Amino acid sequence: MKKFVKILNLCLCYAVFVAALFIFLNLNISADIEMIQNLSEITPELLIEIEKEFEAEPQPDYESEKTIIKKHQTEKKIIKKFKPIIYEPTDLKSKNVPILMYHTSSEKEPAGLRGLYVKPSEFEKQLQYLTDNNFTFCTFDDYYNLNNIEKPVIITFDDGYKENYTEIYPLLKKYRAKITIFLALSSIRPSNITQNMIVEMNKSGLVKFESHTNTHPSLSAISSNNARLTDELLNSKLKIEEITGRKVLALAYPNGEFNEAVKQKTKEFYLFGLRKDLGMHNTIYDNYEIRRIRIDRNTPLETFKKLVG
Ligand SMILES: [Zn+2]
Repeated sequence: MKKFVKILNLCLCYAVFVAALFIFLNLNISADIEMIQNLSEITPELLIEIEKEFEAEPQPDYESEKTIIKKHQTEKKIIKKFKPIIYEPTDLKSKNVPILMYHTSSEKEPAGLRGLYVKPSEFEKQLQYLTDNNFTFCTFDDYYNLNNIEKPVIITFDDGYKENYTEIYPLLKKYRAKITIFLALSSIRPSNITQNMIVEMNKSGLVKFESHTNTHPSLSAISSNNARLTDELLNSKLKIEEITGRKVLALAYPNGEFNEAVKQKTKEFYLFGLRKDLGMHNTIYDNYEIRRIRIDRNTPLETFKKLVG
């Protein structure tokens, strides 16, 4: 009897196993059949439709894209190559800094130049005053260190006149005063400021050359011509760096004219953009709208003293 029950149990187990196996296989076969049915729905006509849709996707214009990327990389390389290493921008605390704007100098004034020629004797009195009152002569190389300088003053001369060499440079040597010349490349000619003069003044360490563009155009007026704008800003910077071997950090907008496009382009190549007036600058103001104090032939010493603060 016991033997019979054992055989019956085995038979039941076998039956359950066979039934489970059948159900499992049957389900899988159904899935396969369904998949085959779906595949059969992709007709040759449908395949053509799908291919057409794929082709209709906008394909990139590889030629122009490559050109743009290449140009971009070249510009980035230039910026990287000339990126100042020791002048990394840092946040500055509020500090007034007189940034004086001159042009040139002579005892006699050529006609019709609206006081651009400051008398050398007057400029000397101004240097004497700054020296006696413990001002420190700075350039834009010192900008991010201005918070650590008690009484900084930045003296700038625009355009690049030969009198910067014949009249001003001897006084700089006498007073050990540093100035910045914003040079327009078109000013370099045998009858005006020469490359030799620039090299000599640069070598003295008393004159830092920065950019005033190639040809002194109104940058606002040419701002819609991106190639021209880039050339005026980038070529002048690279040429001055080539002559002086020093980083050009600042651009003085010719006639102080700029707009948003000019400002954005200036940011690509320079750390600073300078206006031509508006008075005392403060280190918390916009670096691309740096203010200057105009000093000309008609500025009396007493006024000068008030202007520098
Ligand atoms: Zn100018």
